[in-house]
Amino acid sequence: MLKYFYQCVDCGQIIESPHVVYLCDKCSQKNNSALPPRGVLKTLYHYNQIKPNFDYLLQTNFIDLLPIKDYNNMPPLRVGKTPLYKFSSIDNEDLNFELYFKDDSANPTFSFKDRASALVSAFAKENKIDTIIAASTGNAGSSLAGICASQRQKAIIYVPAAAPKAKLTQIVMYGAKIITIDGTYDRAYDLSIEATQKHNYYNRNTAFNPLTIEGKKTVSYEIFNDLRTNIDRVFVPTGDGVIISGVFKGFEDLLKLGIIEKMPTIIAVQAEGSKNLSANMYNEEFKIFPSQTIADSISVDIPRNFYMTKKFITQYEGEHITVTDTEILDASKILSRNTGIFTEPAAAAAFAGFIKYKEAKKLEENSKNVVLLTGSGLKDLNAVQKLINLPEPIK
Ligand SMILES: *Cc1c(COP(=O)(O)O)cnc(C)c1O
Repeated sequence: MLKYFYQCVDCGQIIESPHVVYLCDKCSQKNNSALPPRGVLKTLYHYNQIKPNFDYLLQTNFIDLLPIKDYNNMPPLRVGKTPLYKFSSIDNEDLNFELYFKDDSANPTFSFKDRASALVSAFAKENKIDTIIAASTGNAGSSLAGICASQRQKAIIYVPAAAPKAKLTQIVMYGAKIITIDGTYDRAYDLSIEATQKHNYYNRNTAFNPLTIEGKKTVSYEIFNDLRTNIDRVFVPTGDGVIISGVFKGFEDLLKLGIIEKMPTIIAVQAEGSKNLSANMYNEEFKIFPSQTIADSISVDIPRNFYMTKKFITQYEGEHITVTDTEILDASKILSRNTGIFTEPAAAAAFAGFIKYKEAKKLEENSKNVVLLTGSGLKDLNAVQKLINLPEPIK
């Protein structure tokens, strides 16, 4: 018996297969590229057969909770296991609650995306697949390219030509095949699906491949491991809704195993200029608000994991908040000068969301608040040029 199976987030159908599986065959039939996809799959386990002991799970790299056979098939690079930093003041204000930054820019390719790429790559290795394809706004592509390089796998990346130069540079340096699109991420996505169907490549597209959600959940195990107590809030920068679903899923696994007692309040932070998930939460019909924001990594017209995210937020009373580009830039500066952590705009958005939230609602004394920092500032220097005023060089 396989230790894992998939369940369609829409119809609830169970799918058991050791082979490559993407969307639910029934629910995905009527999908069209102008709407969020139906039929995204959640990966589940036979929880009653898993030892509900966190230290045991930690020592075994959570292999009982991953859809791969052997942890040794993960990339040789150190993916995840990123630092959680505590800061007790911002500028001159002492905080009477606890504030933590989970710094996922410390991943090998400098973004959170490595967690998903690593699991997809390990699955490919176990199934003797040597080529992986993905569409990306930049980070998923640079991540897959780097992870594949470390595993001697081939990567094919579809990415908008307008993606930040550092991300395009990474893809090329890691030796992947790059296809730049004169158009949006959503267009790159469609083209990558066409190529997948035509050439039968293994596809890492976010949410389309259920392992992307599963790879990302490990961040929650790590946050729990560092704090070993109930966590009150986690602020997550959100575009397609895969990272936030991963965060929910990780804590949900721990809930099901009885290791934690309550789900933290998980807050989706979106850019005001790309709020397609928050703005459609309560709409009967999905309506696109065209995206325009400096936070390219969360600039998404059609959130690929809309329905799962909506379900998680509803079920566990998650929240959502939007921040303007000005608030993102301010937050980026405040974060850098207070912590020494310089992040890309999408990650700074999570901190901007935290600042806004803290001003609107009083955070309880001693509450534990975690901000997820998902990517390095060096990936997008252009975005902060407005803030940079170098002095004239001295002679
Ligand atoms: C991809 C990404 C996000 C958003 O993740 P989604 O799964 O699209 O919601 C946030 N920050 C960074 C740096 C990213 O690369």
